[in-house]
Amino acid sequence: MPLISDIKAIIAGFGVTLHHMLRRPVTIQYPEEKRVPYPRFRARIVLTRDPDGGERCVACYLCSAACPVDCISMQAAERDDGRRYAAWFRINFSRCIFCGLCAEACPTLAIQMTPDYEICKRDIMDLVYEKEDLLIDGCGKDNSYNFYHHAGIGVTQPRGAGLEERLPVDVRSLLP
Ligand code: SF4
Ligand code: SF4
Repeated sequence: MPLISDIKAIIAGFGVTLHHMLRRPVTIQYPEEKRVPYPRFRARIVLTRDPDGGERCVACYLCSAACPVDCISMQAAERDDGRRYAAWFRINFSRCIFCGLCAEACPTLAIQMTPDYEICKRDIMDLVYEKEDLLIDGCGKDNSYNFYHHAGIGVTQPRGAGLEERLPVDVRSLLP
């Protein structure tokens, strides 16, 4: 009967309304109340150091190349011992879309995303972060990785002495 099905539909509709009225509210009274994001939440970017305290960034430009909005720029430099670093390193957070591609591309784990989402500013120019704003004292998410202990670049140890590195091939031994 159409009348009975109409009444059932109305009761079902009110049932849904009642169910939502009795649920706990999900609104958070920000900024008095702060939401704790998940550890892998992607927000403010930092540059980290290796366990020896050295800058992890080797200024390879991979993060800059991977960035879809071109908001990372830097200038590479080299120390006397051959170790590379970024003379300056800049991220324009007013353009960043927090996609995490820079962190994925980084071979040294230097650039990492953090869950710190409170980086709003009144002046847009304050969202341009320089190296001194980005570089932290700690290792971030991996406190044991040191690129130069694996890379075989011969900066902190002779070539072939890295943890997962084979001795360099003597090309003369390959000659017929
Ligand atoms: S998170 Fe994405 S948009 Fe932001 S700097 Fe990294 S690659 Fe660029
Ligand atoms: S942060 Fe990583 S990917 Fe970017 S330049 Fe430095 S080492 Fe290369």
